[in-house]
Amino acid sequence: MESEFCVVCGATGRPLTDGVCAECAADRTALVRAPEHAVVVICPHCGARKVGAQWERSGSSPLLTADDLAPLLRVHPEVGIRRIRWEEVSATATVRDLVGTVDLRFRGIERTASVRLSVRTEHQSCTDCSRKSGRYYTAVIQLRGGPERSNEKSAALHARLDRIWSTLRAESRADWRSAVAWTEELPEGYDVYFTQTLAARAVAKLAKQRFGVRPKESASLFGRKDGQDIYRVTLCLRFPRDDGPGAERAASRATVEP
Ligand SMILES: [Zn+2]
Ligand SMILES: [Zn+2]
Repeated sequence: MESEFCVVCGATGRPLTDGVCAECAADRTALVRAPEHAVVVICPHCGARKVGAQWERSGSSPLLTADDLAPLLRVHPEVGIRRIRWEEVSATATVRDLVGTVDLRFRGIERTASVRLSVRTEHQSCTDCSRKSGRYYTAVIQLRGGPERSNEKSAALHARLDRIWSTLRAESRADWRSAVAWTEELPEGYDVYFTQTLAARAVAKLAKQRFGVRPKESASLFGRKDGQDIYRVTLCLRFPRDDGPGAERAASRATVEP
């Protein structure tokens, strides 16, 4: 073993791979490379990143960050990255030229490599956001006053439904809330549009448990896709006034519902 030497530099006493020491192998290997032109696709509305056909990391910064850069590097399988420092060389509105200084480990030795990266940022609405802006919806919750013939003033009704909706929102799961596309104010209450029918049903069920109302569900055909009928679901929720007829019934029902 001791007599073996690196075929490149002649050094002895170093671990060899195919007759070459790690130092020499590192010199002769591309440890970290960057693609010539990298593109990061960001949804300007929610900060999601497009990875392949999927959108990920919704809620991230809509600006390019170091988290976007590291995954763009092509790293040699025997390299472990320790740290990357990025320095901007030049930038236009959409393209940034950067130099990364990469501290890495390769076959037991520490190295620092330098890599140049040019990244173009592209803005595209993600699936969720474009559905929302395209007024796409699959379900609507109608928030209405009580079933009684009400003489409740419109402002009072809206203030009351506002409070109810705030409570429901606060107690909803985050994914139910993010399925709300938009809300419309009508003289008789509010319509809350959802991009996910299951989320709308979950919120209606929560309203039933929380306020003792009975959701009335109906469906209407709005199209066909892949040979299947597509329905939009309407969930009507009627909230009786606290002092109105039916309030007592609703309250007592609320306490017995699980
Ligand atoms: Zn060597
Ligand atoms: Zn988005």
